[in-house]
Amino acid sequence: MSRYNVKETEAKWQGVWDGKGCFTAREDASRPKYYVLEMFPYPSGRIHMGHVRNYTIGDVIARFKRAKGFNVLHPMGWDAFGLPAENAALEKKVHPAAWTRENIATMRGQLKTMGLSIDWDREIATCDVEYYRHEQKMFLDFLKVGLAYRKESWVNWDPVDNTVLANEQVIDGRGWRTGALVEKRKLSQWFLKITAYAEDLLKGLETLDRWPERVRIMQENWIGKSTGVRFRFKIKGREDELEVFTTRPDTLFGASFAAISPNHPLAAELAASSPELAEFIAECNRLGTSEEAIETAEKRGFDTGLKVVHPFDPSWELPVYVANFVLMEYGTGAIFACPAHDQRDLDFARKYGLPVRPVVIPADADPAVFEVGSEAYTGPGVLRNSVFLDGLDTESAKDEAGKRLEAAGQGERTTQYRLRDWGVSRQRYWGCPIPVVHCESCGIVPVPDDQLPVVLPEDVTFDKPGNPLDHHPTWKHTSCPTCGKPALRETDTFDTFIESSWYFARFCSPKTGDAAFTREAVDYWLGVDQYIGGIEHAVLHLLYSRFWTRALKTCGYLNLDEPFTGLFTQGMVNHETYKDADTGAWLAPTDLTKNDKGEWVRADSGVPVNVGRVEKMSKSKKNVVDPAHIIGTYGADAARLFMLSDSPPERDLEWTEAGIDGAWRYINRLWRMVTEAPVELPAAGTPKPESLGSKAEAARRLVHKTIAGVSDDLDKFRFNKAVARVRELSNALGELDGKGEGEAWVLREGFESLVRLVGPMMPHLGEELWAQLGHGTLLADQPWPEADPALVVEDSVKVAVQVNGKLRATLELPRDMDKDAAEQAALADSNVQRAMDGKPARKVIVVPNRVINVVV
Ligand SMILES: [Zn+2]
Repeated sequence: MSRYNVKETEAKWQGVWDGKGCFTAREDASRPKYYVLEMFPYPSGRIHMGHVRNYTIGDVIARFKRAKGFNVLHPMGWDAFGLPAENAALEKKVHPAAWTRENIATMRGQLKTMGLSIDWDREIATCDVEYYRHEQKMFLDFLKVGLAYRKESWVNWDPVDNTVLANEQVIDGRGWRTGALVEKRKLSQWFLKITAYAEDLLKGLETLDRWPERVRIMQENWIGKSTGVRFRFKIKGREDELEVFTTRPDTLFGASFAAISPNHPLAAELAASSPELAEFIAECNRLGTSEEAIETAEKRGFDTGLKVVHPFDPSWELPVYVANFVLMEYGTGAIFACPAHDQRDLDFARKYGLPVRPVVIPADADPAVFEVGSEAYTGPGVLRNSVFLDGLDTESAKDEAGKRLEAAGQGERTTQYRLRDWGVSRQRYWGCPIPVVHCESCGIVPVPDDQLPVVLPEDVTFDKPGNPLDHHPTWKHTSCPTCGKPALRETDTFDTFIESSWYFARFCSPKTGDAAFTREAVDYWLGVDQYIGGIEHAVLHLLYSRFWTRALKTCGYLNLDEPFTGLFTQGMVNHETYKDADTGAWLAPTDLTKNDKGEWVRADSGVPVNVGRVEKMSKSKKNVVDPAHIIGTYGADAARLFMLSDSPPERDLEWTEAGIDGAWRYINRLWRMVTEAPVELPAAGTPKPESLGSKAEAARRLVHKTIAGVSDDLDKFRFNKAVARVRELSNALGELDGKGEGEAWVLREGFESLVRLVGPMMPHLGEELWAQLGHGTLLADQPWPEADPALVVEDSVKVAVQVNGKLRATLELPRDMDKDAAEQAALADSNVQRAMDGKPARKVIVVPNRVINVVV
């Protein structure tokens, strides 16, 4: 019995595909295109199992669509700027550029062992000046049309990395990479005006019908559209007014106090003469700017002593607090509080002994006794204790209150978004330089086109904290493009989310030098037909890309709104965790062995091991399996097959030794079955024999049903079901001895179909077996098999038999059976006879292929 030589075979076919340029993509207007893209990797060092799953799914789609006749683009590149490279520079004394390029080389080599149908000629790395020069130009174009601007603003400051963090990079008040408590600081920052597209980004979600529902909901919530009223309170004893925004003007008669953000100009003014208030504001600012931090913090306030006048009742005064839960960035930075109908207001009111006055009564509650305890009532209801709003429902009351404020000239009904502009300045070295110059006379001067790109210098040192661009001896010193006087370059670099906001467009024409891409190329290839990646990018990367595409359209770069037509988010790869029973230290799977009782023990000492939960593979818990090791042992096809077969792709997958072993055994079985067929198969292309024996006929039906089923499964991302069907077919074919009438011919048809169906999943094995079956062509170039519709229909049907209207039996009958024969079959059934109780049938009604009614 021969053995499948996986190492040799996989390397051989990778070489052949590469040598023939099988996966090189070219624009071809005569063919339908299909752009498959997996979220490109950050070059952290080595590929991990999450990559293997992501790229396997993408490759199955790419190869499947290719076989279906599409002109497929399937590129790969590197999201190569970012903090880890700088951290490596600090820890390992290696330059970020060298570290990054070395990692890219390693990971490229690893990805190539997976046998992916990638067009490697299109490879890009975002840290190359040939890439980032184009986003400098885009930024300057955004600046011209007002989509980029600079403003002083409160930022999240990570005191360990010495950098500004986006709100999204602050998790529970801590930096997402360092875990350090985030502080607030005021800095001049560059912003991109994503809010200009808030409504369009929201509307666009409705068109994304091939996106997961939950991603669309997350984006919708992130954009956070709400309608409400902006109105102005008169401040007692002052000339100015306090403007607030509310989504609940219906609850105005339940008002209890007004509150302003610690960063509201009025708070700053009052703090100038109140050291206590100044100290309170400083404390609030140590909380960070993230909404999570603000939401979870204890509600605290400072009574300013000011009073505002109720807009509907000049005799009613409300105290004004500075409160830590009011965001300067949302609305006007000031609110009126109705504790009965807002939880934060209620928590605050209970703490400071402020009135709680219910004005909205739920439909099923008795207004006479309705009270609010520790939980605010935020649902709809009927208004009471509200003068002219009494008796109205919530929506009508909102409308009426808005109208009254407008009529009094005190406010306007308006729409508000939670979405904030995108702060893109980072005080980091390893990023794209922001192409502007600061001149003492001219202010901020954009770098002119003929002086682009602004190249990131590589001769920097990391011996001082902060941004190395700041202490580079010469780089930032330049002359003003306008007046020629000495000037300073901007030393901030871009948020690396910028690079990933347009890389999919660069892949369309990655070698274009004088432009980001050619118009022909993006018009042909975009949008991405199938984008595949992790759910963790549901908001930021995907929203920024949608914004960037719209901004490029505004600036005339392309004519497209949505960059990703289809999106699939795959689950994580998990593994059991292990701990030393004595020390509690995490142990890696490679540290373990099984003792004779089948229990996990330490391989070195035999000490028992505690087996813990199945969790996402992570370095800290050591429950990682190295793909390089798996591919080196079992081959890429086995790893790919296991990734596809174990669970639905959107769900988490548990990596197990038994699972990869099973995949490996199946590969060998398939190989032996085809290469050691029980009879000599007719030559490829031999016409079908006149007649087939019943076993051959049944096997042939299964072949065609499998073709139809797998095609449908691959279209719908049901890879695990496709694998199950393929296994069922190989079991059936394995039972044929090839001796019956036409069996040898059916075996060839079955093997060839099987090989073509597994091609996208196990491309090396597929290619090898295709050659073993006597073909001089490449499987990678073969069209997808077509199922014969006549063979796919069921040849038998389930027919219900009713006696006097009650179901008594279900019969498996040949499809389109003669009516008399069907009647005889029904009357012969023992259950039916028992129900008829010896009486003759008065009437039998046969509905072909469905039901037989017997009346006695
Ligand atoms: Zn100047």
